[in-house]
Amino acid sequence: KKHWPPYNFSAGPAMLPKQVMEQAQSEFTDWRGKGLSVLDFSHRGTDFTEIAEKAEADLRQLLNIPKNYRVLFAAGGASFQFAMVPMNCLRNRAVYVDTGIWGSKAIKEAKQFGQVDVVNALSERDGLQAILPESEWGIEQGFDYLHFTPNETIGGVEFSDAPVVGRGQLIADMSSNILSRKINVEDYAVIYAGAQKNIGPAGLTILIVRDDIIQQPAAQSAPSLMRYSTLAESGSMYNTPPTYSWYLAGLVFDWLIKQGGVDVMEQRANERSQKLYQFIDKRSFYANPIHPSARSRMNIPFTLADESLNARFLEQAEMAGLHYLKGHRSVGGMRASLYNAMPVAGVDALIEFMVEFERTHG
Ligand code: PLP
Repeated sequence: KKHWPPYNFSAGPAMLPKQVMEQAQSEFTDWRGKGLSVLDFSHRGTDFTEIAEKAEADLRQLLNIPKNYRVLFAAGGASFQFAMVPMNCLRNRAVYVDTGIWGSKAIKEAKQFGQVDVVNALSERDGLQAILPESEWGIEQGFDYLHFTPNETIGGVEFSDAPVVGRGQLIADMSSNILSRKINVEDYAVIYAGAQKNIGPAGLTILIVRDDIIQQPAAQSAPSLMRYSTLAESGSMYNTPPTYSWYLAGLVFDWLIKQGGVDVMEQRANERSQKLYQFIDKRSFYANPIHPSARSRMNIPFTLADESLNARFLEQAEMAGLHYLKGHRSVGGMRASLYNAMPVAGVDALIEFMVEFERTHG
């Protein structure tokens, strides 16, 4: 039986680039000959300041972030932002575009803080799941912001571009596709992303927030640490930030730049995902429930025609070195997550495994 390097198809925490792991390992107990580990640096010392500033500068370069946006490094995961967004931005009314489970979770939090108009934008097209065209959203103008989830990690549904309505007032949970395609930061008031997919280790959340949003007053009851202004004024060091995750994120940003930046990541994401979708579409043994117009390039759920083979598929995949292919518990089946760190060879391996599995079980 064939065995591959191992490849990790987890939806998050997800694989980090091999070169980043190796660099982190080589620096673990001795950062740049100092004889100390980044793990035990003071976050206010010059060493960590240098790490922190380089990480921010590299992210700014990668996403071409304009000067009037602040980059904040926060803790609490993306879920924490589900509450921070309305605490900081919801005055009268917000629009939330719901295309799946993460969007719904954001909506649940926002409703505690004010009026939320929900657009149920998951629709059906040709018997497959699709995103409802914007012309059918029926949005009433005059909202504070429009929140959406560019990539729904669980359902495998991705927007191919930012909505046109509300450009400049968009708030995006970019957790699972940040840095995988070019974006125009100026379309957004706030971008946030949990780090554990395309950026680094879990626990760190990256925020990109426009200055005027930081300057507007947060809800009176908002705790200090949940105000964008507190994070901005303290350089994300109001309290002790997740320093080691920040350092690792910096290594990933550096790696991304050396790989050729977001353009190259976008090409690779297209290549990886197209290969797998084209393969699945050709087979009746495998199926993906999403319309091509809304298919995620990052998370590809798929099912077996005979679901009684699921456990065997996963077991044999594990044995072959293809890990964490189990679908989310709410969806079932399989899910292959193909983030920036996944080499195209990982998809080739998966396809080869799937061919063989079908041959022996079909
Ligand atoms: N939003 C999206 C799109 C996600 O995929 C996830 C997954 O982890 C979350 C939010 C939640 O992030 P966290 O676990 O960091 O709170």
